[in-house]
Amino acid sequence: DLADWQRALRAQFPIITAHPEQSYLDSAATAQKPQAVLDAVHTYLTTTNANAGRGTYTWANRTTTLVEQTRGRVKLFLADPAPERSAVHFTSGTTEGLRTVARDWLPGLLADGDEIVVPVADHEANIAPWLETQRQLARQGVHVHVRPMPYQAASGDYDHTALAELAGPRTRFVAASHVHHVYGGNMNIHRIRRAVGPDAVICLDAAQSVGHLPVSVADLDVDFVVFSGHKAMALPGTGAVWARQSRGPAFTPGGWSGTPNTVGIASLAAALDWLDAAGADRIERWTVALAARLTEGLRHLDAYEILGCQSSLAADSPVQRRQGIVTLRHRAIDSGDLGFILFSHGFMVRSDQHCQGRAGESTGSVRVSLHVYNTVEEVDRLLGVLATLG
Ligand code: PMP
Repeated sequence: DLADWQRALRAQFPIITAHPEQSYLDSAATAQKPQAVLDAVHTYLTTTNANAGRGTYTWANRTTTLVEQTRGRVKLFLADPAPERSAVHFTSGTTEGLRTVARDWLPGLLADGDEIVVPVADHEANIAPWLETQRQLARQGVHVHVRPMPYQAASGDYDHTALAELAGPRTRFVAASHVHHVYGGNMNIHRIRRAVGPDAVICLDAAQSVGHLPVSVADLDVDFVVFSGHKAMALPGTGAVWARQSRGPAFTPGGWSGTPNTVGIASLAAALDWLDAAGADRIERWTVALAARLTEGLRHLDAYEILGCQSSLAADSPVQRRQGIVTLRHRAIDSGDLGFILFSHGFMVRSDQHCQGRAGESTGSVRVSLHVYNTVEEVDRLLGVLATLG
């Protein structure tokens, strides 16, 4: 059953098993790495390490092949139905990926009077690049209107009714996130597509979904998927942009113009293998269940407020499901202090404003973010400590 499956997976994370007294609850910031990824890094560095794209010898050729094969691996992972017509570009993470789309590609899409939709309650990495493109185009006399993507705290999703009203024939581009990094809601991307029509480009910030739930570009009908490898169990300094090449100009950044993060790419290939073997659907079931247990427990503790996704977690609820992110605030204790108190009990959580730059919360909060290595016991222990502070 799922509990046995999880125990076997948890045992594959050396940093987790080496620190049984600690509880890592900050996977939305970066994920821990399974042994298979550590092995792939060791193997690459001890058998193959060379630069890519320019060799006449075996190690260099192997590295070039690794990079090319990992592009295919990313497409497979994202269930790309037409891999011959898409592109994968490696980055250091989601921030660089979104910036690359904004800087190198978006200007070629937009004409004077066009509109773009920007999710102003999202991570700053998914706001600033689009506004910078708008400013850059304005300096060239091309005026693009920015429409703020409305967010509905109670449902934990974008406000799709308001989006349908503000979207029009000039709406060319929408930036959205798949899972909100503070509120934890799984955003309804199908409703965004319905609101903006078949011709608009949708760029998905999948930083909090890749590695946590199935992400299928065929199902989502999006044009870009941008994610961080390091949040999906690969090394720090890894990430990728997947681009469908059918709406707007072709996406052709970089090429072989510099030294790619070859060991990072090796780790990404291994991480995607590991995640596919584990099964994104099972990982999702596990973390959603832990988050539901935590939110249910918190509802009985009057001292705490839960941010986002206030409604029912029932499977048939119209509200999008909360993924493995629960952000809370104590009504009397400062969130920074709460973070320190929790760490004194062994819990590693994030406590601040979570890079939510614009329409975000003005006061801090504590974010608990879960992954497949977390356990029911950890959640119950956390609830126990939180209860003593009530
Ligand atoms: N977008 C979202 C939704 C995120 O959660 C994060 C990371 N916190 C980022 C973008 C930035 O990712 P990275 O630090 O890997 O560039």
